[in-house]
Amino acid sequence: MNKKKKSKYPLIWKKGNLFIEIFCSIPNIATGILLRTDKTYFVVDPGDGILRDLNRNLNPSEILEISDVFITHGHHDHIGGLWSFLTYMTVMQREKPIDIFYPEGSLEIESIIAALLQVYSRDIKFKINLRKIADEKSFSREGMKIKPFKVNHKEPDFESGKAVPVPSLGYKFLYEGKSICYGGDTAFSDNLAKHAKDSDLAIIEAGAVDDSEMELHMTPEQAESIGESAKEYFLVHVPEKR
Ligand SMILES: [Zn+2]
Repeated sequence: MNKKKKSKYPLIWKKGNLFIEIFCSIPNIATGILLRTDKTYFVVDPGDGILRDLNRNLNPSEILEISDVFITHGHHDHIGGLWSFLTYMTVMQREKPIDIFYPEGSLEIESIIAALLQVYSRDIKFKINLRKIADEKSFSREGMKIKPFKVNHKEPDFESGKAVPVPSLGYKFLYEGKSICYGGDTAFSDNLAKHAKDSDLAIIEAGAVDDSEMELHMTPEQAESIGESAKEYFLVHVPEKR
């Protein structure tokens, strides 16, 4: 049985009190995901356009309730909307702290937050808790158990011509007996395969245009082999023009 649901963005999935909407995940453009339960809202990978997409789906008071942001890695197509998202919170006079989880070593994320705190030092009324993740220890937020896990993402180094590792994580979200596994960007990863297996939903990237990109991303065949081990799956981050 092919468990993949084929449809255009947004990709929406719901089971019990766990709901996810993938606004989009287009390589080099943007990924943006809203995860919600009956208790709270999380943003996963605030790529460019995240604020626009949140605004289409939530009212301002709901956007202000977003408690946590989970970032898989610092590439621009996964964090490009972080600045406007947090600036919106400032303009809307948010007071509640927000927690941002990200892989240790993501210079991009720390630099954006440092610049934002400098520019808006007089206006920001809320605390931004930077939570860098250095290991795979599980933790809980608003009744959700989160299990971060290391994946194997790289970027081309144009000087050396080699692919160099990028600090990168996947996340497994577990809530009231339901689970969603999101691998972020990665080449084939046994660790992702392990966590995706038997998940209620696996969100798997298939970003390699052809086998020559297998060091950076997964081919559709690799992504499907992992997806099929979950109860349902979405393939995301698929290049638009092959
Ligand atoms: Zn990436």
